[in-house]
Amino acid sequence: MITFKNIHKAFGDNEVLKGINCTIPTGSVTVILGPSGSGKTTLLRSINFLERADRGEIILDDLHIDVETASKADIHNIRQHTAMVFQMYNLFKNKTALENVTEGLTVVKKIPKAEAKDKALYFLNKVGLAHKADAYPHELSGGQQQRIGIARALALNPDVILFDEPTSALDPELVGEVLEVMKKVAQEVNATLVVVTHEINFAREVADNIIFMDQGVIIEQGPPQELLSNPKEMRTKQFLSRYI
Ligand code: ADP
Repeated sequence: MITFKNIHKAFGDNEVLKGINCTIPTGSVTVILGPSGSGKTTLLRSINFLERADRGEIILDDLHIDVETASKADIHNIRQHTAMVFQMYNLFKNKTALENVTEGLTVVKKIPKAEAKDKALYFLNKVGLAHKADAYPHELSGGQQQRIGIARALALNPDVILFDEPTSALDPELVGEVLEVMKKVAQEVNATLVVVTHEINFAREVADNIIFMDQGVIIEQGPPQELLSNPKEMRTKQFLSRYI
């Protein structure tokens, strides 16, 4: 379970998160929706301290972390349980697909090389790219690079996978293959998935729970059939009217 307790974050005098309280159940797929600039990415990144909130508490199962006093050890601990899939994939350009996946295993997890290679091939196969193991990022499409990014996250065997707008940098014709892989991950992997995206159809089909944010606050949340079909709040209705 991930719980946010009264999370605040400002960049200068721009208050981006204005007291976020919510719980994301273990094993669920939670999609965060909302207009650009509403604080979705900042909230996501606050979970693993890529962005450090100013005030509040992040609870991940039995780790209770007060963000103001969090130590290096706390941050290391929470990062051991999470993996991130970035908008721009962030692959090492001078490493092959396989090496991009093994890197975190050998360097962070200290897994022996041969074992890391087996694991990496297993997860490359899961995202349909075992045949591209020796390819370099520039030899792969954006969609394929993002699938490598997903394999890299899966290989770490995290409790929580954070997806930060994973399809928004892709050409439209490449979005589908990445969403398909994410759907498969949602079905087959036991982790909690938190996904910032504008893909409403993905949210409808795959999410257990949707959080709708606007201007640094959670406006409403609920299962897709409620939030998308029967939103209660005017701001949610206005936002969805652009998509549906
Ligand atoms: P969203 O993901 O909903 O588009 P973000 O969390 O990315 O929103 O951004 C929320 C607000 O915080 C925006 O106004 C953005 O410009 C600002 N912001 C995000 N990151 C930074 C940063 N590193 N420095 C300054 N302002 C930032």
